[in-house]
Amino acid sequence: MTAATASGTPGGRLIVLTGPAGVGKGTVEAKLRADHPQIWLSVSATTRDPRPGEVDGVNYHFMTEEQFLADERAGKFLETAVVHGMAHYGTPLKPVLDHLAANVPTILEIDLQGARRVKERAAELGMEVVSVFLAPPSFDELVRRLTGRGTETEEQRNRRLETARVELAAESEFDVVIVNADVDQAANELWSVIAKEYGL
Ligand code: 5GP
Repeated sequence: MTAATASGTPGGRLIVLTGPAGVGKGTVEAKLRADHPQIWLSVSATTRDPRPGEVDGVNYHFMTEEQFLADERAGKFLETAVVHGMAHYGTPLKPVLDHLAANVPTILEIDLQGARRVKERAAELGMEVVSVFLAPPSFDELVRRLTGRGTETEEQRNRRLETARVELAAESEFDVVIVNADVDQAANELWSVIAKEYGL
């Protein structure tokens, strides 16, 4: 079978999963990949410190700011963003292009700024994007989830909340909205989007 899809471009469309911090993007994405191991999730670069249990090259490529900025200047990222005003995050470009070219279902889990940037750059890079916004059932529930994580300082939490308020208002910019009231259901809805795009 060729890699042509309904979109008419070589390879499948890039799935970009975004949403406010604390909404559960990571949990939904983990469930999705547990059910459908053929999906490839891009491993981002970040300058933040690893959390307990996080593994370099698996959860993130952990980098110094110097390394990150050098890679950014060299054009190695599809998009970069400073998230919560604290750390740099970026999607390495080449692995994304390689997986799309091989028609492997490819997903990015990134913040809103990054998702916008990917949409802007898609035409230039000859790729098509389906952007998915994961929304909380309510703002109060998002606050509860953020508090529950417990790995952040008060200042970090306040920054995240402020970001979340702005990000929630951006829902309408995205192609698909999935409400994360139930992880299994949200993962199933996301799978439906991917299955449709990749003809699975
Ligand atoms: P965390 O530090 O909690 O793992 O992630 C913080 C935020 O950064 C999350 O909203 C996550 O989606 C976002 N993020 C992770 N990787 C990237 C990336 O490569 N680019 C962008 N723009 N955001 C990212």
